[in-house]
Amino acid sequence: MPDASAFRAGFVAVIGRPNVGKSTLVNALVGHKISIVTPKPQTTRHRILGIHTSADTQIIFVDTPGLHRNAGKAMNRMMNRAAINALQDADLILFMCEAGRWISDDQNAFDRATGASAPVMALLNKIDKVHPKEELLHAIAAMSARFDFVEVIPVSARQHDNLDRLMAAIPKYLPESAPLFPEEMFTDRSESFRVAELVREQLTLNLRQEIPYGLTVQIEQFDKQDEGVDVRAVIWVERDSQKGIVVGKGGSILKKVGRAVRLELKRQLGRPVHIELWVKVKENWADNEEQLQRLGYDPG
Ligand code: GDP
Ligand code: MG
Repeated sequence: MPDASAFRAGFVAVIGRPNVGKSTLVNALVGHKISIVTPKPQTTRHRILGIHTSADTQIIFVDTPGLHRNAGKAMNRMMNRAAINALQDADLILFMCEAGRWISDDQNAFDRATGASAPVMALLNKIDKVHPKEELLHAIAAMSARFDFVEVIPVSARQHDNLDRLMAAIPKYLPESAPLFPEEMFTDRSESFRVAELVREQLTLNLRQEIPYGLTVQIEQFDKQDEGVDVRAVIWVERDSQKGIVVGKGGSILKKVGRAVRLELKRQLGRPVHIELWVKVKENWADNEEQLQRLGYDPG
C-alpha cells in the first residue's frame, strides 16, 4: 500500500471556449465516455466530473460548458456560471485552445482562467490538424508569451497524442490528500443522466444547426435489470413548430436517434436496451430559472 500521507487528490478544471475539445480530452483521460461530444459548440451544458484514480493520485477532472460571451438566455448564463464556479474550486486549471487558432471567445476564456488563483497549464489541442509541424513551435512560443503558464503542452485529445505527458505533469499541483471519491468511481453523474446526454448527443448530431440548442432531455423512466434496460425519455422543445422537426418525416429522426442510443447503451451496459422517446413542448424552458432547475440544470 502506498503511504497515505503521500497520496495526492484534487480538482483540475478544464476551461476553454466552446468546441476546443474539452469533453473529448476528459473522456480520453478517464477512459470512459462520461461527456458527450459533437462538432457543434455548446454541447456540454453541465459541470461533469471525470475521476482518474491511480496508486498514488486521484485526479478529478472538471469538464465544463465552454465559456462564451454571448450569454443571452438563463441556460447560457448558467453554463457560464458553472464554468466560473469550477475555476474557483480548482487546484489546477487546464486552459485549452486550438493550436494556432485564437478568436475572441478564446480571449474571454483566457481572461477568466488566468484571473483565477490556481496555477494554469495551457493545452494546445488538435495538433493533428497543424501542418507543417514547425507551425506548432510558433504556436507554443506565442502561447508561452501570453502568460506565465506552469506548462504549455501540445496535445491531440482525439488521437490521444501526448496525453501521457499531460498526465505526468498534473500530480505535483495537487495537494496531499486522501482520495475524495471511491477508487472505482469515474464520474459523479448517474447512469440516467448519462442516458439523457446520449439522447441529446444524437439529437445534436442529427438535427440542423439551431434546433439542438432549443431542446433538453428528461428521463422519465430508467429501469435497469440483469436481463435488460428500459428507458423512457421526454425531449422538451421550446415551440410547437420544433416538434415535427425533431420527430422527422414519418418519425425518421426519432428512430435514428433511438437506434443509436440503444446501441451505445448496450455497448456500455452489456445488456439489451429498450428505449422510448417522446417529444413535448415547454415554452421557453431555456429562459426560465425555475424550469431549468426542475429539468436538472444547476450552476454547479
Ligand atoms: P468541447 O466543446 O470543448 O467540449 O469540445 P468537444 O470535446 O465536444 O469537441 C468538439 C469537436 O472537436 C468534436 O467534433 C471533436 O471530435 C473535435 N476534437 C476534439 N479534440 C480533437 C483533436 O484533438 N483533433 C481534432 N481534429 N478534432 C478534435
Ligand atoms: Mg464539451
